[in-house]
Amino acid sequence: MILSNLHTHTVYCDGKNTPEEMVKSAIEKGFSSLGFSGHAYTPHDNEYCMTPDATLKYIDEINLLKEKYKDKIEIYLGCECDLNSLIDRPKYDYIIGSVHYAKSDEGGLFSVDNTEDITSVFVNNHFGGSYLKFVRAYFEAVAQIGKVKPDIVGHFDLVAKFNEGNKYFDENSKEYLDLAFDAIDAVTPYCDLFEVNTGAISRGYKTVPYPAFPILKRLYDKGARITLTSDCHNTDFLDCNFNESIEILKNAGFKSSYCLLGGKFIEQPL
Ligand SMILES: [Zn+2]
Ligand SMILES: [Zn+2]
Repeated sequence: MILSNLHTHTVYCDGKNTPEEMVKSAIEKGFSSLGFSGHAYTPHDNEYCMTPDATLKYIDEINLLKEKYKDKIEIYLGCECDLNSLIDRPKYDYIIGSVHYAKSDEGGLFSVDNTEDITSVFVNNHFGGSYLKFVRAYFEAVAQIGKVKPDIVGHFDLVAKFNEGNKYFDENSKEYLDLAFDAIDAVTPYCDLFEVNTGAISRGYKTVPYPAFPILKRLYDKGARITLTSDCHNTDFLDCNFNESIEILKNAGFKSSYCLLGGKFIEQPL
């Protein structure tokens, strides 16, 4: 199988390694292509994203690396773009559209990608302790991600980050899946390529990739396409859990995934 990953973070946002360290590691692991997806500047939350200045440096550095390593690996310049991110789209080869925030009942935004404790406090204080209301708010935001014109839909059910073993809500329940499936229906007219993201496995939150199995099956039934990514923040995890995830994808019905090669999304058998 062709090794590729289009979801890679670096020291320009919340990653641990430089872009060049990531490139060298990908070459060592035998990757054919590597895409960088720094968190795009998001004015309401500067904690994890690239500043406008850092964004310009990031773009320059990735473009230099593209040239420097062109005989060894294909490098692509992307970014991970949230609903409120500000980007100069023509500068990028591709965009991952990812929701990291839910809107509270009062209208304020809250990161669903924080810690488990902070998330619990937020659900108690702003949704009366109802995780279903929290999930609804998250998927209502996901339903709008088409407006950033993504090439890839990122970690579709990030809201389940702390829900291993259905700790807070039942991911197989009709109530939950109705909300997730409504969001799929809203997004697919704008983008039908979804990532299968192993990032929460490398960070110890989950044992299976996003999205969960019932959502994967729904995506398959709808004819959506997938790309396997590691949402990598560290060179050690560039291909984290890829083999195990491929088995899950086959069980959901998928026979192929997509990766960027020669400037195009290419279908490859699983
Ligand atoms: Zn993300
Ligand atoms: Zn990411």
